Amino acid sequence: MVKAIVGANWGDEGKGKITDMLAKEADIIVRFQGGANAGHTIVNDYGKFALHTLPSGVFYGHTTSIIGNGVALDIPVLIEEIQSITDRGVPAPKVLVSDRAQIVMPYHVLFDQYEEERLGGKSFGSTKSGIAPFYSDKFAKIGFQVSELFYDDILKEKVKRVCELKNVLLEHLYHKPLLDPDALLATLQEYRELVAPYVCDVSLYLDKALKDGKNILLEGQLGTLKDPDHGIYPMVTSSSTLAAYGAVGAGIPPYEIGKIITVCKAYSSAVGAGAFVSEIFGEEAEELRRRGGDGGEYGAKTGRPRRVGWFDCVASKYGLRLQGTTDVAFTVLDVLGYLDEIPVCVGYEADGEVTSDFPVTGKLSHAKPVLKILPGWKEDIRGIREYEKLPENCRKYVEFIEGQIGYPITMVSNGPGREDIIYRSVL
Ligand code: GDP
Repeated sequence: MVKAIVGANWGDEGKGKITDMLAKEADIIVRFQGGANAGHTIVNDYGKFALHTLPSGVFYGHTTSIIGNGVALDIPVLIEEIQSITDRGVPAPKVLVSDRAQIVMPYHVLFDQYEEERLGGKSFGSTKSGIAPFYSDKFAKIGFQVSELFYDDILKEKVKRVCELKNVLLEHLYHKPLLDPDALLATLQEYRELVAPYVCDVSLYLDKALKDGKNILLEGQLGTLKDPDHGIYPMVTSSSTLAAYGAVGAGIPPYEIGKIITVCKAYSSAVGAGAFVSEIFGEEAEELRRRGGDGGEYGAKTGRPRRVGWFDCVASKYGLRLQGTTDVAFTVLDVLGYLDEIPVCVGYEADGEVTSDFPVTGKLSHAKPVLKILPGWKEDIRGIREYEKLPENCRKYVEFIEGQIGYPITMVSNGPGREDIIYRSVL
């Protein structure tokens, strides 16, 4: 059985916590897209960790953690991340890296920075981890696959060819130091030594695992609204954030994905630029940001304050639909316990119309939220393990949202820890 764990919104929905929790029953956890540009925060018996590359199931001794072919693999970051968790007492994880994954090159990180500098105020709010230049090169067919590291002649010729191209941009567009092909080749040879112990034919491995009846989790990064096709283009990420892409980015048949658990936070948050209709500002926002998540809504990767807002039924219903949701995991509900009243965005008003269907970016930019005010529950709900024990207004909040989004909320998360979960029906 394969389950995908993906995000409905702009990311930071709490996928890491849900993956870490479900990994208890899993054999294999696969990252299938994205790179070290976002982070999952996980709190468990070993402490609090921000993972950027490793799958969130890495803390269990019984699981295999896989970097799929769809990932933007930053080799030094991966190696440092493995080191940083083992340094804190976590047993050495079993990690496999797809031989077809492509490598984030040092110049991808530079180009990301240079381009953001060049764009100035019009930048995309990139985390400058090289992700957009990486995926551009992958599809322009000048990327480097892990497997290529093991063929010196191919590597040497390609490094020379790519440096020629990149140096034109460095010289004439960015006015920055040029790349030295010999130095780059030496770096790639170092990468080869670092990654060699982990390299695997991942799709073959997963095929066998499926035949053996193993439980596999696919862990997505970011959320639907950051998908390059279905998100708020161009303020999106550079690889598909959808469960459907899990099949491609892991190398498994699409029909093997039997459950799609879409994580949706009880209020909204977003990092980076782009339309965010239910965003709030000022003191009201500052309070939610301070109380939000586990220790405030600040980016796991960048430490940047996240933009926050009320729950957005329009964006979430759309996000859940594009994921093909079978189950909604509704997270961070405990945070809202301080509010007397809780506004929820139930529609968008744009061009003189109200709609509950998420529009294209052009229309989105001038949409205004239509809010419905629900009563708060004014109680700390952490520690509650049964749905019926939640305060009545809290259940009403969950059920109102469930009615609006049209997908079953089968899990409610009321704290950052593994055990902070309320099941509403058996998965
Ligand atoms: P991800 O990228 O989707 O994994 O999300 P992040 O890890 O960036 O952000 C989620 C934040 O919320 C993390 O700090 C989690 O520890 C925290 N978190 C997850 N679920 C809950 C919850 O139910 N309650 C609270 N208070 N925090 C949570």
